[in-house]
Amino acid sequence: MQSKKHAAPWLDLDGAQGEGGGQVLRSALTLSMITGTPFRIEGIRANRSKPGLLRQHLTAVQAAAAICGAQVSGAEPGSQRLSFAPGPIRGGDYRFAVGTAGSCTLVLQTVLPALWFADGPSTISVSGGTHNRAAPPADFLLRAWQPLVSEMGALQTLELVRHGFYPAGGGEVVASVSPCALLQPIALDERGQYVGLKAEAVVAGVPGSVARRELERLRAQIADVDGAIRELPSREGPGNAVLIEVRHARVTELFTAFGERGLPAEIVADQAAKQARHYIESGAAVGEYLADQLLLPMALAGGGRFTCASASSHLHTNITVIEKFLPIEFDVEPFANRVSVSVVV
Ligand code: ATP
Repeated sequence: MQSKKHAAPWLDLDGAQGEGGGQVLRSALTLSMITGTPFRIEGIRANRSKPGLLRQHLTAVQAAAAICGAQVSGAEPGSQRLSFAPGPIRGGDYRFAVGTAGSCTLVLQTVLPALWFADGPSTISVSGGTHNRAAPPADFLLRAWQPLVSEMGALQTLELVRHGFYPAGGGEVVASVSPCALLQPIALDERGQYVGLKAEAVVAGVPGSVARRELERLRAQIADVDGAIRELPSREGPGNAVLIEVRHARVTELFTAFGERGLPAEIVADQAAKQARHYIESGAAVGEYLADQLLLPMALAGGGRFTCASASSHLHTNITVIEKFLPIEFDVEPFANRVSVSVVV
């Protein structure tokens, strides 16, 4: 997949386009490594309240640079400009630390697709936040994203070694990757037959009564929900999250809500239940988050499609970046009361 030595022309990207968040940069890093295309980006995270590179984004840049020996300028905290000229992707043993509670799953998602096409196997450990608001919780990566990219042919395993919550961080996720020759398209028009619902209340350094109240509330709201408490050592906290796994034959989805000081446990449970209900009622194959996280693997496979309830601005923004690097296009079309997203070569 990676281009040979000939010098590819530089791509100029506008970090403020669309949603103007961190995904523009992360997708550019991944695809630059894989295609060998150097890029310059201005206006990184221009539409966010604290624009520029935060620790999570900086760690993603450093991780990508280490894996492909890239020449980089502008990789400093707060920087809104970056240039990145990749070299060949090298398999190996890598360890990266976000250094704050910034999301380690977003760092992993930046580099894993590149390691699928490396010259040898890799293990990669990233430490930081594993269960963060506005990022895929490690459980989501393991239970929702991983099975689908495996089905596409990615050879990887993921392990949640230690949980890390905002603001303490300190969690760790480890991945083992073997290179694969090709990714296969998948077609997710439907989610398949219903298999079951499972809820978990996670507590670390937070009283078990909080988890019990959360599960009680869920049981009162969702018929048929199977609930368990995941009580972690308090050194992994403080942290609390409610996870609802919705399993169908073709897709496992995971919805998460986070506890915080002053927010009643029942409200946290309601937030998770609302997301799960919205997905179940939509009839779509994947939820909003899985939708934008499947785009890049599907584009690399050169085909595939899924249905989702609606197309988020995050999805459209990611599509714009991917289409700049790869010779594919996405079709986003209304389909019954949903949206169908497909790769067109
Ligand atoms: P910023 O935009 O501030 O730079 P960021 O870099 O953390 O933030 P975004 O560009 O907003 O990231 O991307 C967040 C990613 O996290 C998206 O891919 C989205 O699908 C995913 N995500 C957010 N919340 C969840 C969740 N609850 N479950 C799964 N994935 C999530």
